[in-house]
Amino acid sequence: MAVPFRRTSKTAKRKRRSHLKLDLPGMVKCPNCGEATKPHHVCSECGYYKGKEVVALEVAE
Ligand SMILES: [Zn+2]
Repeated sequence: MAVPFRRTSKTAKRKRRSHLKLDLPGMVKCPNCGEATKPHHVCSECGYYKGKEVVALEVAE
């Protein structure tokens, strides 16, 4: 079995891992409530999509 000739240095390891990060999903502002939401998804804050309520949330008295 092949064995690495040299141990990977801290710098090389860190440089390699500099690309291993999660990035934020694309977010758009809800035109109804202004909350940041995912594009092409129903707003999780107000249940609106394309200008009308499509998901009824908890009814406030
Ligand atoms: Zn909204």
